[in-house]
Amino acid sequence: MKKVYFKTFGCRTNLYDSQVMMSSLEGYEITQEEADADVVVINSCTVTNGADTHVRSYIKALKGEKKVFLTGCGAHTKGESLLKQNLIHGVFGQSEKQEITAFLSKPEPFMELGDLNHIDDVIVDDFIGKSRAFIKIQEGCNFRCSYCIIPYVRGDARSMNEARILEQVQKLAINGFGEFILTGTNVGSYGQDTKTSLASLMKKMSQIRGVRRIRLGSIEPIQITDEFREILDEPWIERHLHIALQHTSPKMLKVMNRRNVYRQDRELFEFLAQKGYAIGTDFITGHPGESQELWDEAIENLHALPLTHLHAFTYSKRDGTPSAAMKPEINGTLAKERLHQIEEIIAAKNLAFRRSFKGSLDILIESHKDGFYQGFDQHFNKIMVKSQEDLEGNWITVDNYDVKEEANYAQV
Ligand code: SF4
Repeated sequence: MKKVYFKTFGCRTNLYDSQVMMSSLEGYEITQEEADADVVVINSCTVTNGADTHVRSYIKALKGEKKVFLTGCGAHTKGESLLKQNLIHGVFGQSEKQEITAFLSKPEPFMELGDLNHIDDVIVDDFIGKSRAFIKIQEGCNFRCSYCIIPYVRGDARSMNEARILEQVQKLAINGFGEFILTGTNVGSYGQDTKTSLASLMKKMSQIRGVRRIRLGSIEPIQITDEFREILDEPWIERHLHIALQHTSPKMLKVMNRRNVYRQDRELFEFLAQKGYAIGTDFITGHPGESQELWDEAIENLHALPLTHLHAFTYSKRDGTPSAAMKPEINGTLAKERLHQIEEIIAAKNLAFRRSFKGSLDILIESHKDGFYQGFDQHFNKIMVKSQEDLEGNWITVDNYDVKEEANYAQV
């Protein structure tokens, strides 16, 4: 049997899509070892130039020794050129992923990008190599942030069928999964097209036997509704939310065509912090128009937010987006300096949060590396645990631990 290796780049939605492909594949053997593979399926990302470069250098590094297929968001932006250069054998869109067996057997090179309005209905019963389960609940995005390529490669927002999602969670819970991460392109828009809501789905999920903790992918500030605020004290919801701001200068938010407003963001974050939530955000530095004056204002506003986690990038010009034509452009080195500046600010806030938290940590141990069992607590902070016992895949509660800059440490 030919061996297939799946290489997944990018976000949690891609992790889910790769699992769907693995579950749909017939007549091939899946290998976790790239060296053993005859075929490599790349589930690509195209959110930044860097993402495109990573995919391209990965393909180059395979030196033409394997039969390579490209899917994911990069299929829509880079597929054609990579096929023309004979660097890959075939390209297929995310909507076609369940047809993977037929694609891998195609003798001739091909390109089938499929339908950007497709809604998945598959059920996966495992997450190979994972101790927590990623559940895709929606796809696509109706926002039009001026720098973002995603709506053009993932389509408009559409929700998965709720009964199928709950069936999916039940199946994975029976197979031993207790932690579920809800993912999608714009998770918070779940249910807007199907007369339900994220909060309602999470409440129903929490009733399923075996569901212990529900985590969320990135959500938009305006999607934290009153209904969502009512579930914030539930024991099954993680005490961490990743809420995408992208910037903290009111002027820059307008330039980036963002829907969030700094004053409201600050009120929301203060409300969540009072409830003991750790809060993460996305931030783009160096977007065209980010003058020194606006940057200074953004830093002042960032200092005022009770943030604990950061997912930040320097601006990446994406062809076909409104920002690609915007001026003045910001020098790449300056954008990087600004990125490091905010990373330092948030790292200090994270350390202060961990030092000030007085309570037990509820942890799912995910792996064992360098002599430590590693996992994340309810605040999505990493913990390194020393133990004689095999803790992999276990839930543990820890009261005594050391807070160090890079992580918390415990012995059990
Ligand atoms: S919300 Fe904005 S940044 Fe996020 S996927 Fe949609 S358009 Fe892109």
